[in-house]
Amino acid sequence: MKIAPLTPAQVGSFAKTVVSGDVALPIAEKRLAVCHACEYHVVERSFTFCTECGCPRRKRARLEYKVRKKGATCPKGKWDE
Ligand code: SF4
Repeated sequence: MKIAPLTPAQVGSFAKTVVSGDVALPIAEKRLAVCHACEYHVVERSFTFCTECGCPRRKRARLEYKVRKKGATCPKGKWDE
């Protein structure tokens, strides 16, 4: 399957998220538990993705990665922190 190139807005958002640093592990675990219970998550090739964030389903868009980043946000406002 061919993956579409990122838009400039997606590249900027991705870069800000990557350099934002990591949250504490308990926060990441809590976020991921919320995602796993959320109606907007999907599992592909044993990785979890959000269908609402607008990110292409690439390695760094996996929720297992995104929940660890300070700059990542839930598009539905479901994460407490
Ligand atoms: S990021 Fe938010 S909307 Fe997306 S799967 Fe997680 S809890 Fe659901």
